[in-house]
Amino acid sequence: MSGLLELDPEGFIDQLRAHGGRATLYWDDAQGKMVADAPWLDELAAWMTSDTRDVHHHEAVFLGIGPETGALFGAFVHATVRGQGAGGLRFWPYARLEDVLRDGLRLSLGMSRKSALAGLWWGGGKGIIVRRPDAPWQDPTYRRTLYREYGGFTTSLRGVYITAEDVGSGPADMASVFETTRYVTCVPPAVGGSGNPSAATAKGVVCAMEAALDHLGRGELRGKTIAMQGAGNVAGFMIDELVARGVGRIIATEISADRVAEVRARLSREGHGSTSIEIRQAAPGDRQIFAEPCDVFAPNALGGVLDPETIAMLQTPIVCGAANNQLLDDRRDDRLLAERGIAYVPDFVANRMGIVNCANEQYGQVDGDPAIERHFGRTWDNAVFVVTKRVLERAAREGITTSRAANALADEACRVPHPIWGHRGRTIIDGLVKKR
Ligand code: NAD
Repeated sequence: MSGLLELDPEGFIDQLRAHGGRATLYWDDAQGKMVADAPWLDELAAWMTSDTRDVHHHEAVFLGIGPETGALFGAFVHATVRGQGAGGLRFWPYARLEDVLRDGLRLSLGMSRKSALAGLWWGGGKGIIVRRPDAPWQDPTYRRTLYREYGGFTTSLRGVYITAEDVGSGPADMASVFETTRYVTCVPPAVGGSGNPSAATAKGVVCAMEAALDHLGRGELRGKTIAMQGAGNVAGFMIDELVARGVGRIIATEISADRVAEVRARLSREGHGSTSIEIRQAAPGDRQIFAEPCDVFAPNALGGVLDPETIAMLQTPIVCGAANNQLLDDRRDDRLLAERGIAYVPDFVANRMGIVNCANEQYGQVDGDPAIERHFGRTWDNAVFVVTKRVLERAAREGITTSRAANALADEACRVPHPIWGHRGRTIIDGLVKKR
């Protein structure tokens, strides 16, 4: 069998079904390469061994099919040295199998790095459900079946992967997953989960802004000007944090008229101290916010917004925001930012609090949880402020981009085994793999 990577997901589902409905690929230390558990998948194993962009010694990739929905499921485990491979479940349409695999591999590596730099005892993983072209994907009954199936798939992996919410999946979906597996976090408060993480995410990003200002010798946030793209969930809480710190001015653009009205109404009802705030309605392609003179620019909408054109427009010494994957091309755009002398706080350093908020749900709930609060301080070794400064200082010291510095620090932390369980994930994978 060849040409698997080029197949559309439906074509691959046919192949997978014909071969028993399950596929596992894993890193084999003895052979020093990725290995498939069946010969028809050797092409994928060879590709994963040779690709250097998205594949970084991933411990395992599991593929399966929903028994009733027929949807393609993936669980991507980058590393389990620091603990179980944790990361959200993306529900998204894909054109080709290669796109599915690349997304899962890249995102699971990102989760390893994000959790390690946050000081969490988690490894990195990512889940994918491929949205079928003809599926009634918005229908609640269909979704409940689908996510229950994915929960069953997760259970079959014996806890080497812990799933969570991500793009395309919501709290109700996690409640469905939780019906068929215990290996899920970010479940709704009604079943003991931690609820909406946006307030914590916003506060974490603001701590990262403070660290960047401090690194550049520009003082505190008081009196500063902050420009942001997007005035959604996280941005709303971020405005409150910034107002509480006495920033001088906030300018935010937002494409949703309803959201603009909602934020404006709330601010006029609740007040905003001495901070001047302007929430501007923008068209989706409007990039004027990038040219706003400010002390910090915060991308708080979607990813891929920092490209050669927008980077050239920036009039800020710092970029630090909540959006995931802000660089359009992460092998080019961090360099362009550095060349313009802009301190870029890598998104996964600034926006970690989403995963932190739900990572330790199973350890119980405490008011003003110290396991959360320490991330917002300036003394704990893994606090957002401390790690952000460490990243910026390392980049400056070694003459490398901040993304490279953050990745290097994260990769070092990823090699530290879990203090109690060690590299147990590897043993779980060994138990799951059918050796040929
Ligand atoms: P959200 O959907 O509530 O907010 C995004 C807002 O951006 C929306 O109101 C949308 O209308 C607006 N928007 C989209 N395109 C725009 C554009 N071109 N110009 C101006 N506004 C635009 O999402 P959120 O939960 O606030 O998350 C924001 C970002 O942060 C996302 O990229 C998300 O992946 C990331 N993030 C969120 C969390 C969290 O805890 N919610 C954690 C980590 C990362």
